[in-house]
Amino acid sequence: MDVKCKDLIIKGKAKSVYNTDTKGKLIVEFRDDITAFDGGKKDVLTNKGGYNAKVSAFFFAYLEQNGVKTHFFTMLDPHHMVVRKLEMFPLEVIVRNIAAGSIVRNYPFEEGTLLDPPLIVIDYKDDARHDPMLNDEIILALKLVTSAELKKIKTVALEVNRLLSALLEAQGITLVDFKIEFGRQGKTIYLGDEISMDSMRLWDKKTGESLDKDVYRFEKGDVMAIYNKVAQRITGPVKKQ
Ligand code: C5P
Repeated sequence: MDVKCKDLIIKGKAKSVYNTDTKGKLIVEFRDDITAFDGGKKDVLTNKGGYNAKVSAFFFAYLEQNGVKTHFFTMLDPHHMVVRKLEMFPLEVIVRNIAAGSIVRNYPFEEGTLLDPPLIVIDYKDDARHDPMLNDEIILALKLVTSAELKKIKTVALEVNRLLSALLEAQGITLVDFKIEFGRQGKTIYLGDEISMDSMRLWDKKTGESLDKDVYRFEKGDVMAIYNKVAQRITGPVKKQ
C-alpha cells in the first residue's frame, strides 16, 4: 500500500496519528513511550511500540476475518499502521471477565472474581477529568453517540471479547479485561485505536503471572522481555497446553 505520512494530527501518550496523501486514510505510529497512572509514571522502552503494533495488527486482522469491522488496513513498517479515518467517539469501552484493577479499587469486588456475564464499563475519554465512568443516560444526554450506536457498540464489544478470549485461551492466556475505542465513518461503526498489552489485562493460565502493562505499573518484572514473549505467544502458532 503506497501511503505517505503527512502532518501530525494528534500526539497521544503512546501513539501519534498522521494525515496521509490518501483520502480517508491515516497513519498511526506506535511509539516506545509508556505511561501509567494518568501519566504520573512514564518511560521510553525500546521497541514497546513494535510489540504493541504487532499484536494490534494481528488482533484486528483476526477480528476482521470473524466479521468485526475495524479501522485496520496494513502495517507500513513495524511501528506504523495504515488505518481508516474515523470520527472517534470519546468513549473508553472496557469489558471485564474477571475483577481486577480499578473495579476492585472502586467497588467491593474481590480481585479474581469471575464476572459472568462479562461487565461492560464505559468511561468518558478526558484526561483532565480523569476519564470518569459514564452510564447510558449520561452518554445519551451528552449526545456522545445515538442509542442505536450505543447498542451496537456494546454488542460488538461482547463479540470482540468472545473472539479474543477464545484466541488467547488457546495460547494459555486468560483475558481478564481490555479497553477498546470506536468511531464512525458515515453511518458505519468501526473498532479503532489499538488492542495491545497496554490496553488489556492478561494472566498466564498456569502461573497467574501478569503479561501486560501491570508489569510496568506495579514493577512486576522486565516489561520488554514480557511484552516480547507475549507478542510472540499471541501471534505465533497455537502451542499444546
Ligand atoms: O484500570 P482499569 O482496571 O480500569 O483498566 C481496565 C482495562 O482497561 C485494563 O486492561 C487497562 O489496561 C485498560 N485501560 C486502558 N486505558 C485506559 C484505562 C484502562 O487501556 N485509559
